[in-house]
Amino acid sequence: MMTEASSLIPLAAGALVAVLGVLLAYREWRIRRLRMENLGLLQELGDAQRRFKDSSRELRGLFDHSAISVMLFDRFDRTVLYANDLALEMFGVDSMAALTNDVMQRPDAWSGSPYGLADFEAWLEKASRLGMQRFEWKLLNQTGLPVWLDATLVSLPYEGKQTLMFTGVNISVRKIAESTDWLRNRAMLAMTGDRPLAASLDLIVAMYQFTSPNARCAIMILDENTRTLGWGNRPVFAPPFNEALDNLPVRYGAATCGTAASIQGRVVTEDIDKDDRWERYRDAGHAAGVASCWSEPVLGSDGKVLGTFAVYHDNPWTPGEPDIEALTGPLYLASLAIERYQARDRLQRMVAAEKTIREISVTLQTMDPAATARGVRSVLKFLREYLSVDQCLVLQGTQEGSLFEVAHAWPELPCDEDEERLALTRDELEEALSEIREQGYGVIRYDESDDGDELIDLLMPGQNAGSCLIAPIIQSDQVSGLLVFCSREDKHHWQAFDINTVTPVAALLGSALTRQSLLQELTHQALHDRLTGLYNRGKTEDRLTQEIVRSSRYGNTFSLILFDVDHFKLVNDRFGHNAGDDVLVEVASQLSTNVRSADFVGRWGGEEFLVILPETDLDEGGAVAENLRLHIAEQTFPIPGGSVTVSAGVSAFLPGDDLQELVKRADTALYQAKDEGRNQIRVSA
Ligand code: GH3
Ligand code: MG
Ligand code: MG
Repeated sequence: MMTEASSLIPLAAGALVAVLGVLLAYREWRIRRLRMENLGLLQELGDAQRRFKDSSRELRGLFDHSAISVMLFDRFDRTVLYANDLALEMFGVDSMAALTNDVMQRPDAWSGSPYGLADFEAWLEKASRLGMQRFEWKLLNQTGLPVWLDATLVSLPYEGKQTLMFTGVNISVRKIAESTDWLRNRAMLAMTGDRPLAASLDLIVAMYQFTSPNARCAIMILDENTRTLGWGNRPVFAPPFNEALDNLPVRYGAATCGTAASIQGRVVTEDIDKDDRWERYRDAGHAAGVASCWSEPVLGSDGKVLGTFAVYHDNPWTPGEPDIEALTGPLYLASLAIERYQARDRLQRMVAAEKTIREISVTLQTMDPAATARGVRSVLKFLREYLSVDQCLVLQGTQEGSLFEVAHAWPELPCDEDEERLALTRDELEEALSEIREQGYGVIRYDESDDGDELIDLLMPGQNAGSCLIAPIIQSDQVSGLLVFCSREDKHHWQAFDINTVTPVAALLGSALTRQSLLQELTHQALHDRLTGLYNRGKTEDRLTQEIVRSSRYGNTFSLILFDVDHFKLVNDRFGHNAGDDVLVEVASQLSTNVRSADFVGRWGGEEFLVILPETDLDEGGAVAENLRLHIAEQTFPIPGGSVTVSAGVSAFLPGDDLQELVKRADTALYQAKDEGRNQIRVSA
């Protein structure tokens, strides 16, 4: 058994060793295998890391040269991990190292709300909570110009970190085009509507300022008459500068704009301190913070200067190609606007002038001959308002032609009752008259000539200033009078347009006055006796009828005296018909100068005269007749012997009388007087 047992021990030991050996070999194999796996893993890790690095580099390489601004922010602490060239440019730096927090938070990089830094941070916050965000964003570049971005924020792992990627596509060109389009449309609307020119120009200026917010723009408009430039858009400067440059003369040397308008071309003053043309305006420029000025003439469709478009900066500056390009549209629109408004203005003035002339001609054509003064005055009143002048006058030439007297005035001239009418001699008017001969009208200004001073002193005493426009009133091809307009301002500008309105009015006035005087003459002829100037038979009968009607109505009476020259036939026969005429003229004159103003004297026929005495009874009438007879008998007439007598018959109105009866009674009385020896009067029974 023993043997059996002892023989088993080496066997068991051998088996154990074998097992151990197997185990060891297995462990060794495991270790080797694990090592192998480990090595593989390490290699994979290395590969992965390499791949990761490569992809980041690729990504950055892609971003670096992209036309899109790209920035990566740490998702948690918001620090900038990466910014590409375009993004760096946006903040005015050239490397990531320079893009510090200070730069990022620089206030001038950000616009006001809703595009401020705080808004941006709120947006980052929102993006990290909600994922992708897309916005239109506005930044300001280093020169302060707006940069519009179509921007996106998305979460993105980058170099093992959680980041937010910002991408921005520059849409400034589109945004500017959109905004200027909008402004252009509004400017066009303003032009076509009833808005004032300044409102359109404000919008046009805003169009340029959208691309150049640091500039201050001013459009000036040319006044053709004074050849000066005045502000067009609403003031962009403080009053002292506005006043200093207002009415800027169009000539070389009158700051930048006056020069640009005068040479009809671009003028750039890079620095007003170094430009002699600013000498007179420099202080005002400094006070307004103006350092440079670029001015372009605004030209009309006919190539004439309408004004200037000026761009001012508060630092020395000169425009580049993009600035000049950006001004092209607004410049063209300004030209359109000014031309349109001026055309509208001209049209309105023409309509007003046409209406004025029409109304005046109606007034003058329908003027009552007895109320010429009132008619002419209303014309003067009308013209005074139309021309906005201080005084309107019509001077009428006297018969002998040496004087021009003030015949009508509005406002009426202050004058005393017995003071003579203001009159000017031809000498005093010589300057005006020679201008009238040359150009059809005259303009006289105070301080331009001694004659002018004198004339204005006469027309507007005590002013020591002023200016007159004088248009001739022509009657029968002669300057019969003058239409005069006075303004208290020396510099009053008599516009060609006003002159063109006033000259036809003077012509109308001339023809109206001619018509009036013709009418007056005709009326006079129709009522008066040519030889003696007394009322004629027709008028005398009319007057008698009037008196009969009046006396019948009021129960009054009146007298009439019928005079007849004694033996008048003998006067004619002895001394001739002309001497007879002279006697008749003298009798007429004696009768009319020796009756009361209410009495009426008419030539009844040949050598018979009829005197009407209103409110006078038969006795009183007889007394008047007797006085007149005596008076005539005492006169010396221009005939040999010198004496002429008259006989008269007197009658008075009785209720129920008609003209025939009344005259018949006087005639009967006259007949009696003749019968009873002449040179006496008889009163009707
Ligand atoms: P008696 O005293 O009776 O009135 O006589 P008489 O000669 O005045 O009267 P008669 O009627 O005979 O003569 C009037 C004359 O007056 C006739 C006429 O030739 C003249 N006569 C009428 N009109 C004019 C006129 O305008 N001029 C002149 N010179 N004579 C006139
Ligand atoms: Mg007679
Ligand atoms: Mg007689």
